[in-house]
Amino acid sequence: APERRQDFIRQIVRDDLASGKHAAIRTRFPPEPNGYLHIGHTRAIWTDFGIAQEFGGRCNLRLDDTNPAKEDPEYVRAIQDDVRWLGFEWAELRHASDYFEVFYLAAEKLIRQGDAFVCDLDADEVRAYRGSLTEPGRESPYRNRSVEENLDLFRRMRAGEFPDGARTLRAKIDMTSGNINLRDPALYRIKHVEHQNTGNDWPIYPMYDYAHSLSDSVEGITHSLCTLEFEDHRPLYDWCVDKVDLPNHPELIAPLVAKGLPFEAAKPRQIEFSRLNINYTVMSKRKLMTLVDEGLVDGWGDPRMPTLQGIRRRGYTPEALKLFVSRLGLSKQNSLIDFSVLENTLREDLDSRAPRRMAVLDPLKFVLTNLPEGHEETLTFSNHPKDESFGQRSVPFARELWIEREDFAEVPPKGWKRLVPGGEVRLRGAGIVKCDEVVKNEAGEIVELRGTLDLESRPGMPGADRKIKGTIHWVSAAHAVEAEVRLYDRLFTVPNPDTDEDGKTYRDYLNPDSRRSVRGYVEPAAASAAPEQGFQFERMGYFVADRFDHRSDAPVFNRSVTLRDTWAA
Ligand code: ATP
Ligand code: MG
Ligand code: MG
Repeated sequence: APERRQDFIRQIVRDDLASGKHAAIRTRFPPEPNGYLHIGHTRAIWTDFGIAQEFGGRCNLRLDDTNPAKEDPEYVRAIQDDVRWLGFEWAELRHASDYFEVFYLAAEKLIRQGDAFVCDLDADEVRAYRGSLTEPGRESPYRNRSVEENLDLFRRMRAGEFPDGARTLRAKIDMTSGNINLRDPALYRIKHVEHQNTGNDWPIYPMYDYAHSLSDSVEGITHSLCTLEFEDHRPLYDWCVDKVDLPNHPELIAPLVAKGLPFEAAKPRQIEFSRLNINYTVMSKRKLMTLVDEGLVDGWGDPRMPTLQGIRRRGYTPEALKLFVSRLGLSKQNSLIDFSVLENTLREDLDSRAPRRMAVLDPLKFVLTNLPEGHEETLTFSNHPKDESFGQRSVPFARELWIEREDFAEVPPKGWKRLVPGGEVRLRGAGIVKCDEVVKNEAGEIVELRGTLDLESRPGMPGADRKIKGTIHWVSAAHAVEAEVRLYDRLFTVPNPDTDEDGKTYRDYLNPDSRRSVRGYVEPAAASAAPEQGFQFERMGYFVADRFDHRSDAPVFNRSVTLRDTWAA
């Protein structure tokens, strides 16, 4: 049974359903398609889609495209891909620009009600009139224009008669309000810019608060869930919803009906929760865009990026991410989560989900001289030590093996449990071997080990349980497949790369070792994996077959996370 979550938003929803305030709930996830979604968005997605799902409601995916900045279809595709990857599906896909006509009709209504006016102050003047936190603002000299004059000017704004910035439509609220957002905020600005969806239809564009509140209202959103920075905007949000009053003015929605768009106007309630912040990373689309544009990473989907596309390629699972955000829950308190909490959640998820395989990342040849030339056999390994349902697999074993170079030490440090000249070690699942000879090249480098397999120690033999200190992994040299293994690590070296101290920015804290590529060998049952299949390579960490580059005959694996936290102090 799913755990019963008790955060304050779920409690509000539960109460609203119990009291009959809403028969069913509706939410929306409203990203601006100006970049890729990142880990932080998972909290919003899990909240918007998750709550709707849990309470039998509906959640829309709404692309908030009121800014006629370039909305790349690439972003729109990635956003949809990411939401589905996390396991959610939207009731309807909407664009805020679908509602431009509604916003316009609503603005005329506000003008007729005396709640909005056309203002001729330029941006600098507006700022000067606005006042500050300690000083009340002053009313615009254009504030008392007649309804007729306002209507005429607004229609001419819409007709494209005035240049950019010449006029704005402003709400008439209160220039002395302690909340600066209520000091006659702009509702519309003039911008002769082509819009990705509406082309050149509109020389005026609605401002965020106005468009967002009305979009929620048009879609019949009952609970508009957003992050804490919008708390101060809530009075304006409510003002727009109440003054326009869509549920009681179906004529404003007539253009949508004409287009055949289903709608169900409602009075939405905005509720804020804190953003998800994680150390050792940056999570703002603007900064992530900079990393991409300056070529500091390999695009938005670089496995080191905190984008959902990036961490997906890195081998994070939707389950790990949802477990992570659900454990953190929702609150009104901003906090910075330790990156290791995310990594530990991934380890925990993959420990139960990832089949085991053997891979040697820094190969050293080991020849078992007491096995006949050409000897080979097939061993049976279980795929998961704690879960029989994972079944078993065949692992080829032969006279020549690859072992991990770091599992041998000519001069062992204190406490060494692995292979030394003349010493013994257990080969995982195969038996105990002894190193008899160290072969070096002219430069004195070790190129091969030669040794013997204790035939009495093989699985099923009487000596199989003989006590031995170390166990190492291996692959059969003749059967293993050469693979590219990309060893990823954190992108930044400091917990807070975002502080602009000493003239440094996050760019100065990039981890130079965040990506290394090695060539190793993987057992056949790893090579044949499908892209995006994750494994634990025994003793080496969790790895995933690369989503785009992996092929069975040319395997590519990405390290998702090490087995243990190597960053802990
Ligand atoms: P960014 O600052 O990273 O560009 P944003 O808030 O501008 O993010 P939007 O695309 O507008 O990004 O976000 C869509 C939704 O996701 C919003 O409701 C926003 O509040 C939420 N969201 C964005 N970042 C986070 C985060 N770090 N934690 C929780 N929710 C977030
Ligand atoms: Mg935004
Ligand atoms: Mg932003």
